[in-house]
Amino acid sequence: MATLIDTVAGTRGEAKPRPRHPEKARRPENEVLRKPDWIRVKAGGSAVYEETRNIVRENGLVTVCEEAGCPNIGECWSKKHATMMIMGEICTRACAFCNVITGLPKALDPREPENVAVAVKKLELEHVVITSVDRDDLADGGAQHFVETIAAIRAASPGTTIEILTPDFLRKEGALEKVVAAKPDVFNHNLETVPSNYLTVRPGARYFHSIRLLQRVKEIDPSIFTKSGIMVGLGEERNEVLQLMDDLRCADVDFITIGQYLAPSRKHHRIDRFVTPDEFKSYETIAYTKGFLMVSSSPLTRSSHHAGEDFARLRAARERQMEKA
Ligand code: SF4
Repeated sequence: MATLIDTVAGTRGEAKPRPRHPEKARRPENEVLRKPDWIRVKAGGSAVYEETRNIVRENGLVTVCEEAGCPNIGECWSKKHATMMIMGEICTRACAFCNVITGLPKALDPREPENVAVAVKKLELEHVVITSVDRDDLADGGAQHFVETIAAIRAASPGTTIEILTPDFLRKEGALEKVVAAKPDVFNHNLETVPSNYLTVRPGARYFHSIRLLQRVKEIDPSIFTKSGIMVGLGEERNEVLQLMDDLRCADVDFITIGQYLAPSRKHHRIDRFVTPDEFKSYETIAYTKGFLMVSSSPLTRSSHHAGEDFARLRAARERQMEKA
């Protein structure tokens, strides 16, 4: 069964259930496809999982692990890997694949950068992934909040490497430059899907703007690793995925992640099909031949899944490449 998260009752103290996605209420309900055997997830509930959850709650943090209904939460939280989602739990966009609530977000919490830094220290993270909702309502799209969060983590945990997974900062002049100047170790921005799907899957975003954003990061600071990810099983053609890889390589992107799309509810974009492990392997092989330093391609690959281990491999791959040059 697909993950079905249709209401927000009780999760944040709401008295009565209310629809999580009222903007999708009029959409037809899609059939729920039976998951194939190769999509297996680890259950939560271990002592470390509980410890991670307590640290997240005590510091009033939001995680994409919970908000997106990520299938890997049992595994990741049992290893203290949680991906913090800053700037609230309400997003100004309404992507057809995403489980994050759409609406008018609340004001930024000025204590959040510090709270995130405290949690990172308590979790003793060697590598942290910070993402956010889209904040089209803010003049800088939330760029300054990213900068402050990076600075707070650097001050509290100087040995922790920082990966940011940002929105597209569409029409936010100067926002990207501000975030790049804060020197995250990895700058991740997900394309999510092939361009022919943008109108239905990622309305409000522009494919070539996202490509250009990634390219700009490398132009401004070539020392920062760049990363991008897509979901497959959204009706894309294989050739479109290969073209997308070329587009990312033209933007000098180092790392691509490819994972199976799983619908958060019947009202979300339908799952077109389950891509087989062999097809994922084939995408991995092709991506390496196209020159990516790192590739993660499997049914349960997510942007932040195994991000710490992958960062170490990414750094080693760059060192090998430099030795050869
Ligand atoms: S894959 Fe990422 S979003 Fe999913 S549980 Fe792990 S850290 Fe959280």
